[in-house]
Amino acid sequence: MKLFSFAITACRHYSSQSAAFNNKKKWAKPFFFKNKKKYGGNAPKTPRTPKIKLTDEQNQVMDAVCNGQSVFITGSAGTGKTFLVEQIITKLERIHGRSTVYVTASTGVAACALNGQTLHCFAGIGLGDVDREQLLDRVLLDRSARYRWRKVKALFIDEISMVDANLFESLEYIARMIRDKEESVSEKKVWGGIQLIVSGDFFQLPPVRRKSFFLKPTVSKKKKKGKKEYAFEADCWDASFDIQIELTMVFRQSDSLLIQLLQGIRKGVHDSDGLDLLEGCCSGYEPDPSAVRLFPMIADVNKVNKEKLESLNEEIYVYNAQDLGEEKWVRQLNSGIVPDSLELCVGARVMLIKNINPWRKLVNGATGTVIELCKVSEKEYEMNDMCSHGSVLPLVKFDFGLELVVEPEIWVVMDGDNVVARRRQVPLILAWGLSIHKCQGMTLDKLHTDLSRVFDFGMVYVALSRVRSLNGLYLSGLDPKKIKAHPKVLEFYNKFNGGSNEIDGDNSLSGSNETTTHKPK
Ligand code: ADP
Ligand code: MG
Repeated sequence: MKLFSFAITACRHYSSQSAAFNNKKKWAKPFFFKNKKKYGGNAPKTPRTPKIKLTDEQNQVMDAVCNGQSVFITGSAGTGKTFLVEQIITKLERIHGRSTVYVTASTGVAACALNGQTLHCFAGIGLGDVDREQLLDRVLLDRSARYRWRKVKALFIDEISMVDANLFESLEYIARMIRDKEESVSEKKVWGGIQLIVSGDFFQLPPVRRKSFFLKPTVSKKKKKGKKEYAFEADCWDASFDIQIELTMVFRQSDSLLIQLLQGIRKGVHDSDGLDLLEGCCSGYEPDPSAVRLFPMIADVNKVNKEKLESLNEEIYVYNAQDLGEEKWVRQLNSGIVPDSLELCVGARVMLIKNINPWRKLVNGATGTVIELCKVSEKEYEMNDMCSHGSVLPLVKFDFGLELVVEPEIWVVMDGDNVVARRRQVPLILAWGLSIHKCQGMTLDKLHTDLSRVFDFGMVYVALSRVRSLNGLYLSGLDPKKIKAHPKVLEFYNKFNGGSNEIDGDNSLSGSNETTTHKPK
């Protein structure tokens, strides 16, 4: 068997820019480490890209994908699903050609992290509760959506847990009807022959649900069988994949006690030892002021950030994003994490929202404080009225010690190999508060959350599984009743474990590169 190992690519597709966006002068990306001279030893050196060796289970997925198979990659938080997806994208772009590989995710935040687009945007289906025939009509009327569906050879969908069963079924139907020329519907190939690479963890956030279903399993009154909700309940789910695989090696945390605790919470299980550990994180004292406060509701996040910013009583600097592209694609950028308007001042707590240099800890989720707003050379940074105060950039002292003038970065929305929208903005957000929804996928060093306020399945797990160690976890409102996994999800994952739901936090045992696969009949 051929083994592969790949280097991380911090960000993809800078070179694949369509003519419309290829205005190098306007969008020139300043050479990154200009701060070196000014900030002496603190400034990072040219990024190195050491090779990260894929685990056997990750290699198994890579082999399957290279053989043209469709895969579902699952596993708990921090097992490297998104990391593996990034490697597969690079590989498949070489195999199929960039223009036929489409990268999507269920949310704008997850799509931005992969420089992809939301699944809704890709599909061209718009919003609203309509049946699959109406959705197909919409796609047929949309020339560019029709083109995408016909052209795509490999389709990625990350954070699948937030895609519901109806949508998954409808998309399969649309793909089959648009792509396959067979006369009879029954002879058409599943997904019209598209190679599907789907990733996510159904124990994390579920599809958007109505209020009445929060923390209650959905059972329709009419049918005993229950309403379909999760994508794995779609009729076509098993037929969509050649292989379904659960990654078991956790990379985000290294403490086996914490891994074991999180594995339990993921499955809605907690014992007295686990609760004791969590209670140890509820000190009753004020949490570390540098800890990010996670809230289930975005309104609380905005309120806290605004109040804290105002309470500093410092001069506010406003950074307006520079956008290019059609309105509908720019709208997607707005639903992502990159703010169209960012307000900063000295003392503001901020979080980096782009992986700038992973080997210097300058990664998505790194937090720090703005210590100065520094005048920079307009020529070097091409500020173009980006900042309300001219050519000024924030100097951030990151919590791990590094000081850095944070320069504008570029995010793109890709449609195949076309850049359809770009946003240039300082890669920071205010970080006193953050929503649990937006933090799915992130790693945080310190967080504080009030567990009594969570209202849906997976929220406790998503919130807690962001930290690397228990030292960074500050809790309040610990309510064991909120630690709950949906029975349907538990049943689905039983397939991967041959019926056992054992919890084992020791990576050296449970994650000893043993791959649990479920091959559909
Ligand atoms: P997930 O999407 O499953 O939550 P991520 O893809 O975000 O997890 O990965 C979590 C961390 O694990 C990242 O920092 C990533 O670089 C690291 N990682 C993933 N695979 C490996 C590997 N084979 N070796 C070392 N680190 C890895
Ligand atoms: Mg992920």
